[in-house]
Amino acid sequence: MDLKQYIAAVKDFPKEGILFRDITPLMLNGDAYKFAADAFTIFAKEKGATVIVGPEARGFIFGCPVAVNLSIGFAPVRKPGKLPRESVTVSYDLEYGSNSLSLHADAIKKGDKVVIIDDLLATGGTMQATIELVERLGGEVVGLCFLIELDDLEGRKLLKNYDVKTLIHY
Ligand code: IMP
Repeated sequence: MDLKQYIAAVKDFPKEGILFRDITPLMLNGDAYKFAADAFTIFAKEKGATVIVGPEARGFIFGCPVAVNLSIGFAPVRKPGKLPRESVTVSYDLEYGSNSLSLHADAIKKGDKVVIIDDLLATGGTMQATIELVERLGGEVVGLCFLIELDDLEGRKLLKNYDVKTLIHY
């Protein structure tokens, strides 16, 4: 299936000079959404995933259906201050400033095989921080899934030690 037709390109959002890839038309098309979720499900099953992790907010959109399909758990990665119980937190640099992400300390058990799912790979910073959270808790990251990869930003270089599955390239 040609998934690209369901991605809208929005100029100058959220600020001037950014071409934002909007995945919401894909989510509105049941067949396309299911196609993407099924492709990630097959990958996660092959990798022997025991838990799926997804960064907020669009990582939930693709991560949760995969966890449900496989009858395994889903653990949300969130901005600090959102998770109510003991958490681990990692900070990482952005082009301007920095960002932090947190994961509940009991979300990952030692030896868990983790597939991390997000909507889009740009520089790879978000995914690298998410990997660090999982590994700090003793999880083994067995694969990474993205709906979209922006090839020019070379985020894949940062993730070279991991098995990456992407459905759409720009
Ligand atoms: P990275 O950390 O630079 O790889 O940026 C990836 C993160 O930013 C993901 O969590 C995406 O949801 C978000 N993101 C960056 N650019 C876009 C876009 O064009 N559309 C949707 N999400 C984006």
